[in-house]
Amino acid sequence: MKLLENYITQHGTVISDGVLKVDSFLNHVIDPKLMQEIGKEFAKRFQDEQITKIITLESSGIAPALMTALELDCDIIFARKRKSLTMIDQLYTTTVYSFTKEQSNEISISKDFLSQDDRVLIIDDFLANGQAALGLADLANQAGATIAGIGIVIEKSFQPGREKLLEAGYRVESLARIAALKDGKVSFVRGSNR
Ligand code: 5GP
Repeated sequence: MKLLENYITQHGTVISDGVLKVDSFLNHVIDPKLMQEIGKEFAKRFQDEQITKIITLESSGIAPALMTALELDCDIIFARKRKSLTMIDQLYTTTVYSFTKEQSNEISISKDFLSQDDRVLIIDDFLANGQAALGLADLANQAGATIAGIGIVIEKSFQPGREKLLEAGYRVESLARIAALKDGKVSFVRGSNR
């Protein structure tokens, strides 16, 4: 997605060879017009999949997931990282190792909101080693839901997440695919922008 690549080039900061900071439009400040375009693009790619729920992880997945849900006319569920006092329901729970925080988190979704009748689209902000997406897939599988695909805003294609998700049999659609973060510069996978 050319618009997203432009945002990354103009506003992203390369923190190291493995980490990109995009706090000015996705991870801290949220650019609503960009999110709207992201939602439209995901919706276009998954429009034939009869999605009934989008699932994501709090907090940075919520904005792109919400805009996609608006286009696909379905609900979103965000998996919670901390158990809320109001979450007295039965939970689907799994453990996810966080790439950026370098610690494991339990994530959960209430059993009330996801079932075997659902066709699920998983959305997340970044794909690195695939732990977050596989954790969300685990929650959907516990519910017996069908996973129609995984939508990623920014994929770091030089890390193993994409291969892991494809190996597990999931369809992966990434709106920007980063080939490398070298010498403070972002380069994209050739031909990946459409
Ligand atoms: P994974 O679970 O695929 O290893 O990593 C994806 C998760 O880690 C995303 O939910 C995202 O929050 C975070 N993440 C991974 N790499 C980056 C990065 O380069 N920049 C930022 N801002 N977050 C990242």
